[in-house]
Amino acid sequence: MERVIVVDANARQKGRRVSTVDVIGVGPRLVTSILKMHGFKASLYAYESILNNKEILKDFDAIAISFMVSDFKAVKKLIDMWRKVNNGIIILGGPGTLSRSMLSSLDFSLALIGESEITLQKLFSMYKSLSEAYYDLSKSKTTIKGLAIKVDREIIDGGIGEWTPKKFLNVIPEINDLKNFPFFWASRIYVEVVRGCSNFRRPIQTFDGRYCTRCDLCYKGSLSSRISCPVNIPPGCGYCSVPAIHGPARSRDLFTIVEEVEKLTKAGVSRIVLSAPDFLDFGRDELVEEPLTDPCNPPPNVYKIEELLSRLSKIRAVAEERATVMVENVKPCLVNDEVADVLGRYLKDTPIYIGLESCSDDLLKKVGRPSTCSEGISAIEKLKKSGLRPYVYLMHGLPFERDEDVLKTVKAIEILRNIGVERIVLYRFSPLPYTAFELAPKPGPAISDPMRKLLYDKVEEFNREQNKKIIGRVIKAIVALKHPKKPGFLIAYPMRHGPVIIVRGGEALVGHRVTVKIHRLLSNRIVFGEIVYVHEKHF
Ligand code: SF4
Repeated sequence: MERVIVVDANARQKGRRVSTVDVIGVGPRLVTSILKMHGFKASLYAYESILNNKEILKDFDAIAISFMVSDFKAVKKLIDMWRKVNNGIIILGGPGTLSRSMLSSLDFSLALIGESEITLQKLFSMYKSLSEAYYDLSKSKTTIKGLAIKVDREIIDGGIGEWTPKKFLNVIPEINDLKNFPFFWASRIYVEVVRGCSNFRRPIQTFDGRYCTRCDLCYKGSLSSRISCPVNIPPGCGYCSVPAIHGPARSRDLFTIVEEVEKLTKAGVSRIVLSAPDFLDFGRDELVEEPLTDPCNPPPNVYKIEELLSRLSKIRAVAEERATVMVENVKPCLVNDEVADVLGRYLKDTPIYIGLESCSDDLLKKVGRPSTCSEGISAIEKLKKSGLRPYVYLMHGLPFERDEDVLKTVKAIEILRNIGVERIVLYRFSPLPYTAFELAPKPGPAISDPMRKLLYDKVEEFNREQNKKIIGRVIKAIVALKHPKKPGFLIAYPMRHGPVIIVRGGEALVGHRVTVKIHRLLSNRIVFGEIVYVHEKHF
């Protein structure tokens, strides 16, 4: 039986995570489960667990590494480490494999491109092991869809993997090996509820000479016809590859999601994020007979969303507030009073992320966004009124962006303040492979241009002001670890998400849920607090 070590290197950048250190995503856990289902002895580890104990690598025949485009240095370091102790093959996966330059620069045997379920199913119908697959395919210099192989320095590329049909989305990702992640009990564990995105509208052009002919197919055509564009502009917002790589929105089975969350809580997980490009697409695909490629119609399947949230709320650990369930993103055009009311009932006081991106409707339309600025603001208002904590995404440096577009966004910040948005996350546009804007110029940092700097400063000021509001609050948190640099201090995470909290305390408190009073800000995302109550040990 081939022994495969799966390593989660996502967001490890140069070899260390500097932000979102408390996130454990779906991809590597899912691949571990799929390998186990196919009879492999697969084990999942966090990147840092391997760095701290390189000897583990000797116990396996192959290594599978999941990573993002920004993780080149971390992955290279891991591959070098593997090569020093092991001759086994190297399999790459995750969003990083979408970048051709990454594949050219990294030493690997097999790379899974896009979704892996069908690719692995096909591969294992032909071969008993990944090593056998590599040696046979490299000899014949052939491959299958969704798989790239590297022979000497040549890449034989099978293109993007097939979109996994809904019926195969019900594998429960690995749970036991979460123990190989530092402080997993306090981490945000992502549980997939929807695969793919319903926005198959498109931007007005690519940057290799393809222009929208205004045929209106992706706006008014049948749901099936929106899958392709006569001039081959990739679907979705121009900066996002989700629709092209993952296809239209498909919901996972409600009972599988509930089972997964229940098992996670039993394994000691305390913070669960229901992950989806748009949570409000959950169950919406059941309202249509064709692929769900319309981002705004039909409206959300409120009945199904409520059923899911209601069942999750009855899981013992959730009902007893030993575990929190949160959701990730929502699209503004799907937020109506009814759905906001349901979200408020089950997710009160948890964050919700809304992509506003810009307040220029002209720019939003040009880049393929499905919602206008006023729809975004109305959605944020509704969610806030229902008791959620809105976090808003903005982006700068998008193609076609003019100073007047940025100015509209700057002016909207006052509106966001009045609504009570908790935080604004400002991103710089970055061209991604398999998107309409893949070849668009990469913008400089916001501070290199007066108008973008104005936006950057306004967002910074906004977040500084909002951060202060946490001072004096009493919140529930979970202690993750000892502070690595300050003896006698601990690091804790709010159960319902928020800034990292530094508290005084001894190692015995690690793994406890605690109630903390926040005393002061230490930085933009770190606060200092005092433990006022120690709850039972969580893990
Ligand atoms: S992006 Fe393509 S499908 Fe959409 S309107 Fe333009 S030409 Fe038609």
